[in-house]
Amino acid sequence: MSDYKLPDFIRARKRGASYQAPIIRDALKLNDVQKSLGRDLFYHVITYGCQANVRDGEVISGILEAMQYTHTELLQEADIIILNTCAIRENAEKRVLGEIGFLQNYKRLKPSLVLGVCGCMAQEEVVVQKILKSYPVVDLIFGTHNLFELPQMIEKILVNNQKAVSVYSYQGSIFEDMPSVRSLPHKASVMIMDGCDKFCTYCIVPYTRGQQRSRLAEDVIKEVVQRKQQGYKEVTLLGQNVNAYGKDLENNGDFGYLLRKVAETGIERIRFTTSHPWDFTEEMVSAIADYDNIMPYVHLPLQSGNDEVLRRMGRRYTSRQYRELFDSLKNRIPDVAISTDIIVGFPGETEEQFLDTLAMVEYCKYDNAYSFVFSPRPGTPAAKMEDNESEEVKKQRLYRLNERLDFYSKANNEKWVGKTVKVLVDGPSKNNPEIYSGYSPQQKLVNFKLKAAEVGDIIDVRITEARKNSLNGEQV
Ligand code: SF4
Repeated sequence: MSDYKLPDFIRARKRGASYQAPIIRDALKLNDVQKSLGRDLFYHVITYGCQANVRDGEVISGILEAMQYTHTELLQEADIIILNTCAIRENAEKRVLGEIGFLQNYKRLKPSLVLGVCGCMAQEEVVVQKILKSYPVVDLIFGTHNLFELPQMIEKILVNNQKAVSVYSYQGSIFEDMPSVRSLPHKASVMIMDGCDKFCTYCIVPYTRGQQRSRLAEDVIKEVVQRKQQGYKEVTLLGQNVNAYGKDLENNGDFGYLLRKVAETGIERIRFTTSHPWDFTEEMVSAIADYDNIMPYVHLPLQSGNDEVLRRMGRRYTSRQYRELFDSLKNRIPDVAISTDIIVGFPGETEEQFLDTLAMVEYCKYDNAYSFVFSPRPGTPAAKMEDNESEEVKKQRLYRLNERLDFYSKANNEKWVGKTVKVLVDGPSKNNPEIYSGYSPQQKLVNFKLKAAEVGDIIDVRITEARKNSLNGEQV
């Protein structure tokens, strides 16, 4: 057990004002053993959570394929299964622990199966201790900072027959040129930054993903150009707080600058997520408005409509400032769609404070929203705040909130009936292979019967029907 590297939240919280993250190019170095360790073996990666995690899952797959592993969809065929986890809510953690319990059965049938856990949960001290104590079937634990160590760790397991546990709690580096297996042929995620320094009081991300570190603009642009040359139609610029992009770099430019430069590559569609209202400048609004290939869709987390709750959440903006930004986006970007995240039942939230959130929903009439009951994350300040409200009251608030959110999702979708929208074709719908689906510029899911088009084409669809979460239409 002595050579385990375990996570540590006190170290994870440290921030250096003058910290400049090292850029590590070609970090993946395989020795001769590692280059063929996966020959004739199969891998399966299960990813939970946000798009940054999905992107990490693509890199993990790329590393495994560099070791000659072959992907399989069948769990019973896999020789290594990696759970790429999310820590944002307690539920997500419970699901992963349940999944490990379930996967024990495969390990019983095939003792050589390597079972790995990585991602944000692996960055949490309590979780790693729990896995080590209660789930001895797990052979491999690594964190968000050291994907590049995966080959060494697998070698340790397969060649030396030892468990491999290596999680770093530090500010982090930037890794360029990592191999990856892209999940889609026409839409690509491009990480522009990792980590976060905002420390919203309920959020675990700054502890699990490290200090904010932006990639150089020239590296991001190079990657977008490559994707365009490879035939990708859409890129999504990813970061925990994209609007803070570049604040940790000198002579690089901010997110508004990056948006313009990416737009000038001429790639057909650009999206970005997630935005923090506090870092969202008027120049960024202008950049979105100025380019047709920056899609008119912004995810703008509100979290609460009450100033006192926002202050205790550490969000740094007031409801008035949020509304001004919202108005600016609506006024300057034609037909912009705006979605949001809302937490109800934050510790100490009163009925009146909750009503302020409802009032904000009535004002913003969001196109879409992700709403949750507050979930305390151990180690964060909000987890220690006094919370006297019952779960029943919180659930009632969520129910009341969701009623209004659903009403506005449907009402916003109804505005599109009779109009023709441009849809980037994703492929057959999950529920009906005869129906295809894709997304409009406003990030509306559109289902339609395909006449003549292929995955990755951008086609015209006339909308005939609006539902709460999607639109139905006919290819024109
Ligand atoms: S800005 Fe987002 S990722 Fe960063 S601490 Fe706040 S909620 Fe978490």
